[in-house]
Amino acid sequence: MRATDNKAIKTVTFFMGDGIGPEISDSVFAVFQAAHVPVRFDIYNVGEAEYNRNGKLIPDEAFASFEKTKVLLKSPITTPVGKGFRSLNVTMRKKYDLYANFRPAKSNPAVVTPFPNTDIVTFRENTEDLYAGIEEQISDDEMHSIKVITRSKSERICRSAFEFARNCGRKKVTCIHKANIMKLSDGLFLHVFEEVAKDYPDIIADNMIVDACAMNLVLDPTKFDVLVTENLYGDILTDLTSGLIGGVGLMPSANVGTDMAMFEAVHGSAPDIAGKNIANPTAFLWSACMMLDHIGLNDYADLIRSAISNVMNAGVHTTRDIGGNASTTEYTDALVSEIKKLIAMAA
Ligand code: NAD
Repeated sequence: MRATDNKAIKTVTFFMGDGIGPEISDSVFAVFQAAHVPVRFDIYNVGEAEYNRNGKLIPDEAFASFEKTKVLLKSPITTPVGKGFRSLNVTMRKKYDLYANFRPAKSNPAVVTPFPNTDIVTFRENTEDLYAGIEEQISDDEMHSIKVITRSKSERICRSAFEFARNCGRKKVTCIHKANIMKLSDGLFLHVFEEVAKDYPDIIADNMIVDACAMNLVLDPTKFDVLVTENLYGDILTDLTSGLIGGVGLMPSANVGTDMAMFEAVHGSAPDIAGKNIANPTAFLWSACMMLDHIGLNDYADLIRSAISNVMNAGVHTTRDIGGNASTTEYTDALVSEIKKLIAMAA
């Protein structure tokens, strides 16, 4: 029996961004079609081009669709600089309280790096810290950005990290902070982490100052298992962990709230390579697989992940960012062929 049989079609909201967004989205559409994934995408254009057309970065209908489906796959969006725009990503995470940003960094045997055994999952608090958007101009000489850390929001992200560790057989959760300097805000985050840790005696709980963490990550990433941290440290450290495994083209992510979830690659719209047909769609494909796991279509996610793994390990059709020569479409075509082969073998 094929994986498609007896599955009702599910609707997922899709935001089409800009830069490399359309190219890597085409890859997802082709791969989903080959795998007969029972998902219908409700697609909306978002970003600066949409603003120029209709005066809104995200149209009202796009918000309405996400509020109805509760699941969103989002391709990267350029944040216009210096025009008073708030990042669309920050907007989405705050508007829908998508508080847990889950970012796994796992080495792939097909990608040669100095760190072949990296397997680090970061839980980044997604709604407060310096991203709370509270800024004020005191004078022409002085600007303030306010860092907000609350007990309740610290507790739920710490709990998410420990729950994940327990459910997925992980051994250790490390809290990353700068409580030696920011004694109140980071002090609260660390204190809450230590309180939550008491409910998980089966998991090792330790902590590290963020600058020491940055150094230790590049000296020996195998020291780390699950990280939990505030918004800004998580943003920076997960670009670092993506570098350990071969770059941002290989790092998926989920932004999960109480009953809504948004899935996206960690990377941005990469304007430097947009339109050149060389972007690596893997991070976005893996994000799409996480979305499929989230809505209970794990068998389709596994099929797509197997195809990605086989094509990457064969090493013939990989993209430039990981040492290959293939274009985005050549890599996608190879994935489509591999999926068809895997389906035929299973029939
Ligand atoms: P970026 O992640 O877009 O690019 C950083 C570097 O990585 C570039 O050299 C780029 O070519 C490369 N790269 C990124 N994705 C790649 C892929 N899939 N395959 C191969 N190479 C890839 O970061 P940036 O240049 O700092 O930001 C560009 C724009 O994206 C900005 O407007 C920023 O605000 C926005 N951004 C959006 C998101 C999002 O939508 N989630 C995230 C980060 C940045």
